[in-house]
Amino acid sequence: MRCPFCNALDTRVVDSRAAGEGDQVRRRRECIACGERFTTYEKVELNLPRVVKSDGSRASFDEMKLRLGMLRALEKRPVSTQDVEAAISRITRKLMAPGDPEIPTKRIGELVMEELKSLDQVAYVRFASVYRQFQDVQAFREEIERLEQQPDPEALRKQLDLLGKD
Ligand SMILES: [Zn+2]
Repeated sequence: MRCPFCNALDTRVVDSRAAGEGDQVRRRRECIACGERFTTYEKVELNLPRVVKSDGSRASFDEMKLRLGMLRALEKRPVSTQDVEAAISRITRKLMAPGDPEIPTKRIGELVMEELKSLDQVAYVRFASVYRQFQDVQAFREEIERLEQQPDPEALRKQLDLLGKD
C-alpha cells in the first residue's frame, strides 16, 4: 500500500476493524517514511479473471452479459430459471477454478455451449451458430456447407430404392 502523501511503499497497519455490512475491513495505516496516517477500506472480491477478446482488448468479466446471451438463446424454450441460474454458477466456478488472471472469450463461449447442450438442443444450436459466426466466420461457413452437402434422409432412401434394395 503506497502512502498517498509521500508515495513511499512502507506502511504499517495501526488499526483494523470490520466496516460496512461486515464485508469490508477498515484499516488505519501509518507511513514508515513520513509518519502520516491514512485509512483504507478493503473489500472481499471474487477473484474473477479478466476477459481477453479476440482483438486483444481486455474487459471485466460480466455475469449479466453472460446471462443475457444465454437467455437470448433460450428464448421461448422450456427451461426453468433455476436451471439457467445453476448453469451460470457452474460456468462462473469453472472460470475461477484455474486461478488464471485472464481468460479468452472463446473459453467462456465453450463453457456456455457445454451447458446449453445439456439444457436444450435448440438453444445450443442458436447460441453455437451466432457464437461461431463471430469467432470464426470461415469455420461456421464450412460447417453449414458440410450440412448442406449431406443428403436428407428422404433423398437417401429414394436412392437406395433405385439401387434395387428390395
Ligand atoms: Zn508517507
